Amino acid sequence: MTIHRHYQYGATTGAITLTALAAICLYRDLYAPAAGLALGAAVLTEAAVRERRRHRRVLAEHEWARRRALGLNPAPLRPCCLLGQASGGTVHRQCTRVSVAALIHLAEDNTPTTKDSA
Ligand SMILES: [Zn+2]
Repeated sequence: MTIHRHYQYGATTGAITLTALAAICLYRDLYAPAAGLALGAAVLTEAAVRERRRHRRVLAEHEWARRRALGLNPAPLRPCCLLGQASGGTVHRQCTRVSVAALIHLAEDNTPTTKDSA
């Protein structure tokens, strides 16, 4: 379980609590507090969804790294890395794309070739 899963559970619990309080306020004709509580519930719901997405990304990165450690060649994740996505593909960190240098193989006559040209 990642820290993101803990955050997701906390945000979900908060959203459920705020939704219940908003329903109670609506039942008692307290519309202004109900609107504030509903807004808070919406923010916490978005946070829970975001943390769930981060949790799944961490699990996918761990599985990708495990496969690489076993000598397999797993396909890169989409997006390849979070920094690459944020920078429009110009900067990468902890990237899951295999670099071009890693794709260079030596042909039988020891001339380097890329995987595509082989
Ligand atoms: Zn990347």
